[in-house]
Amino acid sequence: QDSYRNKVFQLYDLTTKLYHYLLLETEHGKNALNYLIKRGFSRDIIEKFNIGYSPSAWDTLQNFLTKRGFSLELIKQAGLVIETDEGRTYDRFRNRIIFPIFDAQGRVIAFGGRVLDDGHPKYLNSPETNIFNKSRTLYNLHLAKQEIRKRRQAILFEGYIDTISAWKAGVYNGVATLGTSLTVEQAKIIKRYADEVVISYDSDLAGQQATYRAIDILLPVGLSVKIAQIPQGLDPDDYIDKYGAESFKSNILGNSITATAFKLQYIRKDFNLKDEAGRLQYLTSALSIISELNHAIEREHYLKGLAEEFNLSFPSLKSDLDQIYYNKR
Ligand code: ATP
Ligand code: MN
Ligand code: MN
Ligand code: MN
Repeated sequence: QDSYRNKVFQLYDLTTKLYHYLLLETEHGKNALNYLIKRGFSRDIIEKFNIGYSPSAWDTLQNFLTKRGFSLELIKQAGLVIETDEGRTYDRFRNRIIFPIFDAQGRVIAFGGRVLDDGHPKYLNSPETNIFNKSRTLYNLHLAKQEIRKRRQAILFEGYIDTISAWKAGVYNGVATLGTSLTVEQAKIIKRYADEVVISYDSDLAGQQATYRAIDILLPVGLSVKIAQIPQGLDPDDYIDKYGAESFKSNILGNSITATAFKLQYIRKDFNLKDEAGRLQYLTSALSIISELNHAIEREHYLKGLAEEFNLSFPSLKSDLDQIYYNKR
């Protein structure tokens, strides 16, 4: 059983090397390499993250691996080759930029592949296997864990490209989920190295919704949470591309807000604050969010903010809050 695992690790290692070589050293990889260069990936970065390219042909990897003595059965089980109902087999990844996914020890356990244009699906991941469990894997943990431990802080991104862009910008404690929402298992893994997580997701609605969900996964695990706010329409990679590394670090990461401030702001879109009834509904929801806080001084801080903004007396808000607070406990 152990030798089976080792065989699969060998398989992924060899696959990584093949795709990496095809990207950097061959005619097949030209387009992909140009695409990456246009997006600001240097040769160093391509090396560091072992980025590769899977050619358009249906059988490049299959031929390569079977010639080196790997059985088709193993290659299929490893998720690298797909079998049709008629029993024909073909490479899973074709004409895609390949991001190897590593475990915490730095062994390749899966791949993510991006199209070179706006084809669908934009990203294709390896299926789950004996050694790849999506919900327990964080992209880039093997490189970032040292810095995360040192700073006791992790930055959480949506995907490969944001994580790599941030690395280029000098942010070495970034990790990403793999196209799924953050899981409790992933949060617990982060907790081994960090006390705090800064969520840096895309500014679109999907990203903001995912942020809200991630907060409620991270806090119960005992992590403190901050949110980096990216201007509308951009993601971390877009922002770094547009405004540069220093601005990302100081204006975005440096100005990250608390989970409570994020929630109070996020729920606003659900209410019409121009209207008296809408304001009251918002306040009720806001008080419920504030009542989740364990420390009285924190509750008082946000309560003061609300009182000021809505021109209400602090004591009346406080008495409403107390009611919610004590009902909850
Ligand atoms: P790019 O800048 O190249 O468009 P992105 O990282 O901004 O890439 P998003 O669409 O924001 O792409 O997706 C964020 C992350 O979610 C991706 O990096 C990828 O890990 C994951 N993801 C997106 N779409 C899929 C998909 N169809 N299947 C699996 N994972 C996906
Ligand atoms: Mn997104
Ligand atoms: Mn994005
Ligand atoms: Mn992007």
